[in-house]
Amino acid sequence: MSLTDATHAPTLRSWVESANVPGCDFPVQNLPLARFRPAGGAAEAQEEEPLRVGAAIGDQVLDLKLAAQLCPWADAMDPLLEPLAGGDLAGFMAMGQPAWKMLRAGLSAALAEGSDQGPFLETCLLPRTEARFALPCRIGDFTDFYSGIHHAVAVGRQLRPENPLLPNYKWLPIGYHGRSSSIGLGGPVKRPQGQTRTATGEPRFGPSRRMDYELELGLWVGQSNRLGEPVPLAQAEDHLFGVTLLNDWSARDIQAWESVPLGPFLAKNFATSVSPWVVTLEALAPFRRPFTRPAGDPPPLPYLDGEFNRAHGALDIRLEVWLRTARMREQGLAAMRLSHSNALDAYWTPAQLLAHHTSNGCNLQVGDLLGTGTLSGPAAGQGGSLLELSLGGRQPLRLPGGEERSFLEDGDTVTLRACCEAPGAVRIGLGQVSGTILPA
Ligand code: CA
Repeated sequence: MSLTDATHAPTLRSWVESANVPGCDFPVQNLPLARFRPAGGAAEAQEEEPLRVGAAIGDQVLDLKLAAQLCPWADAMDPLLEPLAGGDLAGFMAMGQPAWKMLRAGLSAALAEGSDQGPFLETCLLPRTEARFALPCRIGDFTDFYSGIHHAVAVGRQLRPENPLLPNYKWLPIGYHGRSSSIGLGGPVKRPQGQTRTATGEPRFGPSRRMDYELELGLWVGQSNRLGEPVPLAQAEDHLFGVTLLNDWSARDIQAWESVPLGPFLAKNFATSVSPWVVTLEALAPFRRPFTRPAGDPPPLPYLDGEFNRAHGALDIRLEVWLRTARMREQGLAAMRLSHSNALDAYWTPAQLLAHHTSNGCNLQVGDLLGTGTLSGPAAGQGGSLLELSLGGRQPLRLPGGEERSFLEDGDTVTLRACCEAPGAVRIGLGQVSGTILPA
């Protein structure tokens, strides 16, 4: 069975020239969606300007409000463009997978070289640098999983060298309920204050001294399920609209003291950052891979196992973390890549995360966000957090310009990036998300 169609053809080019530049994140094969306002004008006036939905093409944003007004479309596109023209991305997501597929086909044809819609759509483009992005939708609930096994082992080893993985890890996707109100698109992130335990064992209250990031993917729920009605694994992907980058900022010293016995709380809920563009599961079709387990590991229980998931459940997404400190900026030094890994290293697939989340009848809703958990690679230096890269702070990293880091300092900018590459497919990117630590 082929998961790809004409919209993924590597020969397909766009009349938007910047989309044809090799290495570009947003060729016509990608077509991710985001919400934005055109930049310019007074800040107060901008806040009142209604949000719009756009599709990324090269270095441009196709404004779907203008595109709905100014361009002729096939009749079948009209109902799809209606919520999008109104800036309601969640409303479009709620229309379900057939609508997602149809919009992709319609946008692909309209943006492809030789399209007779080109002359109409040319006036609906805005340079990406002139868009001010917003979250894709109002996020009802946020759940963060722990599906990066190499992260779980590396962190577990710091606590329990003999027995890093707890007995449940290989049987169920571990997760906890996070907080949605503090999710944003990055930018300034204020160092949290909190209660931590000092070397003498006495607790203190003050700014976190072990600020960290976590390299994750965010999965956007695009279909609701009714309370009491689990989503079977085979249908789980019909409920997943797309993927963004996600940085789960973490205060390790607060986390270490507060997490027993109920798990993370104030160490995590002060900020979570996602990238603005939602890359759809359709766009990721050429980068699907089999879900495999190392020899000797238990197979998933039947509710987490299925033929499609075994054949195509995993995503081949290359992930990177970059760091630039305030001093590196002053000295004109470029950002340094701290690590790289791949979403294939996750122990559970996105479909398994969603099926497990609903397996007790829990109702997910359109616009909910699921974090995969930190996606570290197996090799040393592939840790998706500083906690791993600095071995819990015992082995600081050397940075260009002579600085060292065990954890983040004020003025540090962390950037997550991701892209997909495969033979016979055009490279697509997820864009990036950046955040800079501000003093407490
Ligand atoms: Ca996390």
